[in-house]
This record gives sequence, structure tokens and C-alpha cells, in this order.
Amino acid sequence: TAALYIVPTPIGNYADITSRAIEVLNQVSLIACEDTRHSGKLLSHFGISTRKTAIHDHNERDRAQWIVEQLATGQSVALISDAGTPLISDPGYHLVKHVREAGYKVVPLPGACAAITALSASGLPSDRFSFEGFLPAKEKGRLDKLSALQQDPRTLIFYESPHRIVQSLESIVKALGEDRQIVMAREVTKTFETFLSGTAAEVLAMVMADDNQQKGEIVLMCHGFIQQQDEDAVPKVAIETLTLLAAELP
Ligand code: SAM
Repeated sequence: TAALYIVPTPIGNYADITSRAIEVLNQVSLIACEDTRHSGKLLSHFGISTRKTAIHDHNERDRAQWIVEQLATGQSVALISDAGTPLISDPGYHLVKHVREAGYKVVPLPGACAAITALSASGLPSDRFSFEGFLPAKEKGRLDKLSALQQDPRTLIFYESPHRIVQSLESIVKALGEDRQIVMAREVTKTFETFLSGTAAEVLAMVMADDNQQKGEIVLMCHGFIQQQDEDAVPKVAIETLTLLAAELP
């Protein structure tokens, strides 16, 4: 039966495509791409000549119905984005919702995602994390968003564009504090892959001192908020126990 396949593509290193991704992209009747020219390079590299159509933020809702009509005629469709996993800071949410509501199968393939790849090597706690996508472009919006996350105990993951990295690091210093541990992963899986880590103030200084650190694709990760233990305070459970004991004493 016809299905919509969600197919991740590499985030910089073509060797990271999966054999199942190649198989599905060859077998479907249609590949919905964010940008057909951009994806054309990847597809022709792997000798895939499946028909392509463009689905991006501006036409996704209109195209969703058309895709359902393709599925209705028994033709399977694959969704890819420019890089990584579709829907993750990329188009696809409205399409998947619409296709599911129309009663068709949506089949996910696992594969590259910059956030998860960067987190896995960051050295930051990975048991709990919050993916926050891109920070707002304007300073006020950035500081508001970061302030709302200031007490969040989970590792925070942000996508960042190279021309805004310095401003975003400055906002992190302001809103989360200069001592917050952060890791900046740049050009992951590519030739100039770099991980910078330190306090927010240290990473900001390293990035400002070296223009090369302001180029390429970036994932910013921040350690979650650490509750400061008040060392003089007596733990609540100890007080409760002492109260119970005191009540029993003659
Ligand atoms: N859907 C993609 C995914 O699964 O990771 C993300 C698409 S989003 C439009 C692009 C952003 O992802 C970049 O601005 C950057 O923050 C991050 N990114 C993508 N590739 C990367 C790489 N090789 N190294 C570091 N960050 C990357």
C-alpha cells in the first residue's frame, strides 16, 4: 500500500546516508524536497532519478492535499529536507498531520540529525534534554526565551546560524550567566568539525577571537540549571525525623 516515507539525509557527509534511505528513495514514485536543486545534487550522486517536487514552508499546506491525492492513486511518496531529519527545524509537520488525518501510513526512517549527533559527543548530560530550535533573531525575543529556560535542569540544544552566533552567545551570557557550561559544535561530520566547550564567557571569547569559529553550521548546547545546595541548611527529611523522635522522647 502507498505510504509517505520520512527520509533523513546527511548533514554534511554523504557517506552518512543509510542503505535503506537509498532503497526507499529509488522505490517511491515521488520525492518531496525542500529545494529540488539542492537535493538534486545528493540524489544524482547516488544515481537516484525519481521524480521530484518542491515542498517548503510557503506551499506546504497547499501541497499536502496534492500529496494525499498521489497516495490515493497508490503512489508512495518520500519526504526529504535539505539536510538531516525532515520536520526537525524543517518543513513537514503539516504534511505528516494531513496525511495521517487522511488515513494513510507515514513511515519514518532513522538517520542523521544535527542536534542528536552533536549532543552525543558534547560531554553534556544526555539523559534529559530540550531541543529548542533556532533562537529568535531579535535580542529582546532571545533574552525572553532564554530567561524562560534559565531554571530548566535539562541540557538545552539550539540551532544557530553563523552570522548570529556572537549575538546569541552574548544573550546566553546575559540570560543564563557567564559561568554556565556550554558546548558549541560546528561543522559536525564535515572537514572542519570543531567542538568548543567551557563557560559561556569562555566560549564567547574564543569565538570572538577567531573568525573561523563564526563560519559554517552550528549546534549550541547549554548545561541545564544546577540547583545550588545551601550547605548550612538542614535537609527537610532530617528535620521531620528529629521532630518525630522529639515527640517520642520522655
Ligand atoms: N533537519 C536538520 C536536522 O535534522 O538536523 C536541521 C535543519 S536546520 C534548517 C539547519 C541547522 O541545523 C543549522 O543552522 C545548524 O544549526 C544545524 N546543522 C545542520 N547541519 C549541521 C552540521 N553539519 N553541524 C552543525 N550543525 C548543523
